[in-house]
Amino acid sequence: NPSSQAPLDASNLLITRCKSLKPLPNALESRDARGQHFTDHMLQVEWTLASGWSTPRITPYGNLCLDPATQVFHYAMECFEGMKAYKNKEGRVRMFRPEVNMERMCGSAQRISLPTFEVREMTELLAEFLRVEERWVPDEFGQSLYLRPTLISTDPSIGVAPPRSALFYIIARYEPVSVFPPPTPWKLFATTEYVRAWPGGYGSAKLGANYGPSVKAQVAAAKEGYQQNLWLWGEEDEITEVGTMNFFVVLQGAEGRELVTPPLSDAIIAGVTRRSVLELARRHLEGVKVSERKLTMSEFCEAAASGALLECFGTGTHYFVTPIGSVRYGEQTITVPGEGLGEIGSMLRGYLADIMWGVVDHEWSIAV
Ligand code: PMP
Repeated sequence: NPSSQAPLDASNLLITRCKSLKPLPNALESRDARGQHFTDHMLQVEWTLASGWSTPRITPYGNLCLDPATQVFHYAMECFEGMKAYKNKEGRVRMFRPEVNMERMCGSAQRISLPTFEVREMTELLAEFLRVEERWVPDEFGQSLYLRPTLISTDPSIGVAPPRSALFYIIARYEPVSVFPPPTPWKLFATTEYVRAWPGGYGSAKLGANYGPSVKAQVAAAKEGYQQNLWLWGEEDEITEVGTMNFFVVLQGAEGRELVTPPLSDAIIAGVTRRSVLELARRHLEGVKVSERKLTMSEFCEAAASGALLECFGTGTHYFVTPIGSVRYGEQTITVPGEGLGEIGSMLRGYLADIMWGVVDHEWSIAV
C-alpha cells in the first residue's frame, strides 16, 4: 500500500563520522592509478515496498553485505548518476544543477522498476554529504570531486519482478585532475558492429546495463588507437553519442553558423552538460543557430569535405567539453579542422567552467 510508504526525509539524517580520516592522496599519484581514491564516508538510505524510505545515514566508507540471490546481481537492477562538486576561489563547495541529475535518476529508476524519491530531499542529502567530505573537494579551478549516487535492488530473490527493497547510496572519488587546458583532441572510432541503444530501448536511462556491454566496443577501438566510440543508429548511421558524452558539431551554413546536437530519444542520455551548453548557446551566441536535429554520418562526411564542418566536441560531466579531432568511419578518416574546439566550443567551455567553479554567480551553481 503506497500510502503507508514514508517519503524520503533529509532532516532525519544520522551522521557517524570516521574515527581517523584517510590522508589525501598525492595529486600526481591519483593521475594514473585509474583515479580510484574514495573519500572517508558514504551516504545510504534504504527503501522497502512496505515502509518506503528509511533514515538516511552517513557512515564510514565500507563494503555492502548482500545475499548472493539479490536481484541487482542477476537482473542489473541498478541505476546511477555522475556529478561533481567544485570549489570557488574562497573555498566554498558547490554543486552544478544537482536537481537535474536527481530528476534524471528518478527517470532511470522508473525504467527498471526501482523506487523514485523526492528530488529536493535527495539534493539536500547530497549537500549534507559534501559538507562532511568538504576537504576532498580540490581547491584548484578546473578540478573537482566526482560523486556517484547509486540505486540498487536489494531484494534477495531470484525472480524477474519488481523489487521489494532497494538501497540508495552516494560515494565520491577523489581525482584532482584539471579540465584545463583541454585535452588533446580525441580520435573516435565510428562503431558499426555494435549498437549502444535503440528505439524502445533504455539507452536514455543511466542504467549500469547500458555500460557493461559497451566495454567490448571500447576495447576494440582502443586497440586501434582510438579514445572513444562514436555510437551510431539505424540504416543511415545517425550519430547518437560519443563514448559517455553527448555529441556536438558546429557547421557553416549559407546564413551563418549552426550548433548541432542530435535530438533526445530513447538512444540518447539527456546530458546535464548538453542541456546547459544548449541553454548557454541560445542565450549568449548571437547569430548562431542552435539545432537539436538528426545528423547522419553522410552529412558529417559531406560537411567535412565541403569545409562546412568547423568544430566538433563531446559534452559530459566527467570529460567536460572535449575536443574531437578526427573520426574513423569504415575506410575513411574524417579530420576536424582546428582540432575540434573552435570559437564556439571554447566560448561555451569557458562560460560553463566559470559557472561551475563559481567564478561568476549563477543560479545553476548551488553553494552547499
Ligand atoms: N551520454 C552518456 C551515455 C553518458 O553516460 C553521459 C554521462 N552521464 C552523458 C551522455 C553526458 O551526461 P552529463 O552531461 O549529464 O554528464
